[in-house]
Amino acid sequence: MQLYKKQHIKIYNSLSGKKERLKPINEGHIGMYVCGPTVYSNVHLGNCRTFMSFDMIFRYFKHLGYKVRYVRNITDAGHLVDDADDGEDKIAKKARLEQLEPMEVVQRYTIDFHNILQKFNFLPPSIEPTATGHIIEQIEIIKDILKKGFGYETNGSIYFDVAKFNETNEYGKLSGRKLEDMIANTRELAAQNEKKNPQDFALWKRAEPEHIMRWPSPWGDGFPGWHLECTAMSTKYLGETFDIHGGGMDLKFPHHECEIAQAEASNGHSPVNYWLHANMLTMNGKKMAKSTGNNILPGEIFTGDNEILSKAFSPSVVRFFMMQAHYTSILDLSNDALLASEKGYYRLMEALKTLKKIEPNETSNFDVSVWRQECYDAMNDDFNTPILIAKMFDAVKRINLLKENIETITSADKETLLSTLKGFIFDVLGLEEKIENVSNSDKLSGVVELLIQLRKDARDNRDFDTSDKIRDQLSAMGIQLKDGKEGTTFSIS
Ligand code: AMP
Ligand code: ZN
Repeated sequence: MQLYKKQHIKIYNSLSGKKERLKPINEGHIGMYVCGPTVYSNVHLGNCRTFMSFDMIFRYFKHLGYKVRYVRNITDAGHLVDDADDGEDKIAKKARLEQLEPMEVVQRYTIDFHNILQKFNFLPPSIEPTATGHIIEQIEIIKDILKKGFGYETNGSIYFDVAKFNETNEYGKLSGRKLEDMIANTRELAAQNEKKNPQDFALWKRAEPEHIMRWPSPWGDGFPGWHLECTAMSTKYLGETFDIHGGGMDLKFPHHECEIAQAEASNGHSPVNYWLHANMLTMNGKKMAKSTGNNILPGEIFTGDNEILSKAFSPSVVRFFMMQAHYTSILDLSNDALLASEKGYYRLMEALKTLKKIEPNETSNFDVSVWRQECYDAMNDDFNTPILIAKMFDAVKRINLLKENIETITSADKETLLSTLKGFIFDVLGLEEKIENVSNSDKLSGVVELLIQLRKDARDNRDFDTSDKIRDQLSAMGIQLKDGKEGTTFSIS
């Protein structure tokens, strides 16, 4: 029997603001769409966090035996610099600045995106469609929206008529906004504005002569509005109504609100059953973003080449760091947090090795099946990875008691414990045992961790001469040990 028949998932639906029991449209199948990157620059770690949250969710569904069609697009046209309907296309701007073809920009950063995701051990999505590959589908949706009276043309551009839509539907329901408030809070329209109302958004924009990224349409040469591609690609590959739509919290408005409006206007019903939003990665308490420069690239973490870092961190350690927070909570990146995650990650991997060597006994002190279900319960409760990790550390404690012959375990329980741990660590959280291309700095960390352990053993044996010697000599080499509640961490000056 497939695991999903026994494990019932509750997910926080941003649309209802409640945790709801997941009921897929087709039993045993899940359709999930996640907004992908706009490929005009290198992905930063914040982007990776959102995609990693959905990679973990994808992995958990697969682990439970669901057949998942996971669509994550590449935005290679239509996303304008101000995220609304004005300004240059982000990709065209980069192409102009670097004197490249827009498609060279797209190619370069799509490759970077794939490389980084591969380093983080992401599973590839089932389909990775591009906006430029679906211009025809987007034009068809615009025609439909016009036919149904929810759009209008001005000078070769087509806009979505939000006020008209709001007469029969509810614009703003996802982000909890009311159209009247939005209108009250907007200043007067500039005279030259082509929109009837500032809340209207572009479905198609006329291309000015200098605009390179352009396609023919019934309304003249132009390019699609940013929100339309996701409606076109999700409908094409997942149907008019599908199970899950995800993205970063910052996409709720206007992007996802507009997606709902487009789909409801065109198909007459709601496109998505569960809306999931992943929270932001911050640095120094501020959102990590390309535009503000407050960001760090994954490559800088893997080499340690950034002023906030004392050393390099492996992709699995960064992944472990991300998984220690719930996907709907804000997470702040810091060197100390990464050091603590590294320690935790090594402890988990060490325990796994220890467990493999434990000699089984006739009896068990550890009720493995209860613990196993608690791990599932954590994941079933809106993918609560921090609780899952806490449960795994409960198991680590038990493994250490087994090692010291304080507790015992039967052969069957040992196998269940091992397979459950491996399933969650490798299949669901996507961590890797091998630290590929272990850099010298990783080797150094390993050595310092070993010395920290020896110092702890010495202190436990009240051999303070040895423990002080370890601390002082490391300090003389520029390696400071810091004792805290969670154990000892180190930094290199
Ligand atoms: P973009 O390439 O700007 O369209 O962003 C790609 C994805 O990254 C979107 O789902 C964003 O919501 C997400 N994202 C952007 N900044 C952050 C951040 N600081 N933390 C988490 N996710 C982010
Ligand atoms: Zn999207």
